[in-house]
Amino acid sequence: PDGDAVVAPIRALAARFATLVLTQDWHPPGHASFASAHPGRAPFETVRLAYGEQVLWPDHCVQGSAGASLAPGLDLPGAALVLRKGLNPGVDSYSAFVEADGTRTGLAGYLRERGVGRVVLCGLATDYCVAWSALDARAAGFEAVVVA
Ligand SMILES: [Zn+2]
Repeated sequence: PDGDAVVAPIRALAARFATLVLTQDWHPPGHASFASAHPGRAPFETVRLAYGEQVLWPDHCVQGSAGASLAPGLDLPGAALVLRKGLNPGVDSYSAFVEADGTRTGLAGYLRERGVGRVVLCGLATDYCVAWSALDARAAGFEAVVVA
């Protein structure tokens, strides 16, 4: 409820940065993180996948659906990169830097080539996507700041 309350503060914050990266969950139908892909399982249960434990989610952010589109107001014109995550049908990706199976997204290289040393992160899913991205930013050698 009230998730859109993050939009205005994020827009205001974004105006202060020269390098903006947006992330977008972009799952194929039947993605392995969906409870519906595991008969008899319910959202928020966990299953064991090849890379480890996976929380099962309701179907969400299916490629091309309205639920996958950026929230109105978050189509920031200054964002040069929209990084789509969770495209691999069998692998989830909370982090913008590293998918759940350890595959790197390339974001660290992108930021380094632009001379970024400090990453400021914000979003709605602070307990998953924002937190995992912040931890992986640190692991990649960036200073990381999470805006609550
Ligand atoms: Zn997802």
